[in-house]
Amino acid sequence: MIKLYNSLTKRVEELKPLNEGLIKMYTCGPTVYYYPHIGNMRAYIFMDSLRRVLKYNGYKLDGVMNITDVGHLTSDEDDGDDKMEVSAKRENKSPYEIAKYYTDIFFNDLKSLNIDVPEHITPATQYIKQMIDFIKILEEKGYTYRISDGIYFDVKKFRGYGALSGKDLDKVGVTRVGENEEKHHPFDFALWKFVTDNHIMKWDSPWGVGCPGWHIECSVMSNDILGEDIDIHTGGVDHKSVHHENEIAQARGVTGKNPANYWMHIEFLQVDGGKMSKSLGNNYTIADLENKGYSPLAFRYLTYTAHYKNKLNFTWEALDASQKALDRLKDAYLAHLNGTDDINDAEINKYMERFKDSVNDDLNFPAALAVVWDVAKLTVKSPKIAKLLLEFDKVLSLDIDKKEIKKENLEVPKEVEILLEKRKDARLNKDFATSDEIRDKLKEKKTKLQKEEERWKAKN
Ligand code: AMP
Ligand code: ZN
Repeated sequence: MIKLYNSLTKRVEELKPLNEGLIKMYTCGPTVYYYPHIGNMRAYIFMDSLRRVLKYNGYKLDGVMNITDVGHLTSDEDDGDDKMEVSAKRENKSPYEIAKYYTDIFFNDLKSLNIDVPEHITPATQYIKQMIDFIKILEEKGYTYRISDGIYFDVKKFRGYGALSGKDLDKVGVTRVGENEEKHHPFDFALWKFVTDNHIMKWDSPWGVGCPGWHIECSVMSNDILGEDIDIHTGGVDHKSVHHENEIAQARGVTGKNPANYWMHIEFLQVDGGKMSKSLGNNYTIADLENKGYSPLAFRYLTYTAHYKNKLNFTWEALDASQKALDRLKDAYLAHLNGTDDINDAEINKYMERFKDSVNDDLNFPAALAVVWDVAKLTVKSPKIAKLLLEFDKVLSLDIDKKEIKKENLEVPKEVEILLEKRKDARLNKDFATSDEIRDKLKEKKTKLQKEEERWKAKN
């Protein structure tokens, strides 16, 4: 039995899939206007961990993750300019080039964190027609109105708005300073935005040239690929009160159905106890961690030390401790693999059950890690235990059976060291002929070393 916390009902519930043996799941993907930071990656490690737990329990998955490459404005409440257009201007590129560049980086990060890519990846710009059709239905059903800058969803027409976040339409009736004053209610949101001539991303529509609002893409893709109702919808906790609330309103407006049975939200990663921000220079990326010699999987390990519903505080000390723990886990795996003791199957099964119970209990990874360490630290050393650790790793995805080559740990062979010394002397003596000769020798050695390293990596 898998239990999950459902943000919609605010209860931990038993997972009851719509289709036997299959889970349909939608994950709000990244807005590809800038480098994804480690907070974003916490959200996708969560997505992957959930998918792995479901697979571990024998479910097949049909998952969708969108790529927001248009329509996400600088504020989630439809104010400001499109983030893609802002980046394009800043970097002197087209928004399409921006999307390609940052999408590639995002997928590289997923790979280095061992995050499996969901079955369907859908960029918003490839769903414009379907979004227009969806808005047309909302219009026919009387959920929309037009103002000077776009077509808006009328939240007052939808009874049930606020169920996810607890927002009360009647209590908040005041438009904030700077917000669009033409809106009928401050919570009304854009379905289609008209754009000016200098906008690059724009399309024809029955209402005029423009681009879709941000929220519509997720409703449309989920509906188009997975159907009117799905099992699980995930995203960061910041999506709960605006983005997902709006998604539910739109989808119910069109289909009359709740688009997902379970809504799951991952809490934020903080840095040094506060928000990550560009101005503080602490919105670290996976590449930043690697440049300091840490493995991306050490970060993955770190995320398991807190429950997904709790905030997690990132510090370099915490990452360092996670890296050491991961290294020790790999050592423990090897020690068991080479062990000659025996352990009875009943004991192995007991640990297996404890691990499964933990991850099935609303993804209690801190508890699962405790089981992993109980097993890793067993004084009995047996390959059966190594096998059990590998079984856990199907869920943890930490590559505990693979050695890592860390940049700063690559040893310089003695003969290379001697050559480097000799070259330094030759250059000091202005003996450039010898210096060049040594440089060529070093080049040869470097290619050899690189080849050996590649072979070693392939083997491991
Ligand atoms: P965005 O690219 O801004 O649309 O965000 C991509 C995902 O990362 C969304 O699910 C966000 O909710 C999530 N996210 C953003 N910041 C953080 C953070 N600090 N910690 C955890 N998740 C985050
Ligand atoms: Zn979304």
